Amino acid sequence: MNNNSRRKFLKNATGLVATGLVANSALGSTIQHIKPADEKKEMICRILGRTGISLPIVSMGVMNSNNPNLLKVGWQSGIRHFDTAWNYQMGNNERMVGAMVRELNMDRKEVIITTKILLDRNLKKPELAKERKAQFMARFAQSMDRLQMDYVDILMYHDVSTLEEVSDPVIMEAMQELKDQGKIRFPSFSTHVYWPELLTAAADQGFYDVVLLSLNYSMAGDEASLNAMRYAASKGVGMIAMKTQCQQDWYKQNLPAETQRFYEGSLMHSALLKWALRNEQVATAVPGFTTFEQLQADVDVAYNLEYTQDEIKFLEDHNVKLAIQSVCRFCGGCKGTCPHGVDIPALMRTHMYAASYGNMHITRSTISGIEQGRGLDVCEQCGECVAQCRNKVLIAGRIEELKSMQV
Ligand code: SF4
Ligand code: SF4
Repeated sequence: MNNNSRRKFLKNATGLVATGLVANSALGSTIQHIKPADEKKEMICRILGRTGISLPIVSMGVMNSNNPNLLKVGWQSGIRHFDTAWNYQMGNNERMVGAMVRELNMDRKEVIITTKILLDRNLKKPELAKERKAQFMARFAQSMDRLQMDYVDILMYHDVSTLEEVSDPVIMEAMQELKDQGKIRFPSFSTHVYWPELLTAAADQGFYDVVLLSLNYSMAGDEASLNAMRYAASKGVGMIAMKTQCQQDWYKQNLPAETQRFYEGSLMHSALLKWALRNEQVATAVPGFTTFEQLQADVDVAYNLEYTQDEIKFLEDHNVKLAIQSVCRFCGGCKGTCPHGVDIPALMRTHMYAASYGNMHITRSTISGIEQGRGLDVCEQCGECVAQCRNKVLIAGRIEELKSMQV
């Protein structure tokens, strides 16, 4: 199947799904495995650190999708790893992943399922260890009930942002118990902010086999992050990249007309995904595609990481670089610049969920997860924003946008 036929095939799949003409039971036999333009090419696979799991370099971050047929076409296209979480779509995301595995009658050993447990921030205090473990276990049980599975392959402690969380003995104890009971295979955590230090700590400590981290082109040249990844890889930690393409087109409206062409079609998506995956420390990425066209573009990348001439022009374009530098990379460099102690990286992440993903559920749950007294409510009482980004993020502008979105 060449590129054109593949596009046609997915377009057809989209149309059929939209009109409801493809019954779920028929989907498996209707949709064929997507093959690369060059039939000799194979999907690129990498080993996920010491887990030894071999994965195609493109997985599916299910977070933003509520279309079960998108997952099924993803599977038929060769995707073998699906990433969900306890808090996505109020549990419906996990239900959808579990239903896909059953409906396509998958051999459970052939599919890798990740889920994540988010804890209430107010339970993170050391003295609330008992309550924290109880909530972790209760939410895990809920996840398993929704997934209808005996085990998950990778269980993540979701949204870890401090060294204390990385070395929290209570969560490690809970994960170890679940592992001993055969309910999880590999303990892991996800992290959005300050992660070089967290990743290094995890690598030294040796408990977490996998780390899910945000990585995108705005971090090109960020040696602290890249060195931490090299170090973690040398210690056997498997790394999965998230947020590889998100936010990057939010600033395009400020660019000259001749630069805008880069943002048409799938060029931006494939260039940015390739950039992240050309880093061989990344075993796989979990792009959160929501359309069949995006799935097509991401699956194409899994076969070929060579840049096209246009992708090189996009990545090297001065205006594109400037726009991308204004994307928050959650480095934590703004810490201490807000006189009221607001958690700015968390607000910038909230902005990304609202503006780039348009996912209001996750936007609100991120806002409500911010420690009391450090959220948007504080900004609303502040006259003028004086917080400073050490990169080029216009914090004041992003906060104004968040306020206007009434999240
Ligand atoms: S706003 Fe700037 S300094 Fe703060 S986390 Fe984002 S990129 Fe880093
Ligand atoms: S608006 Fe005020 S409270 Fe909010 S981050 Fe800026 S300086 Fe801090």
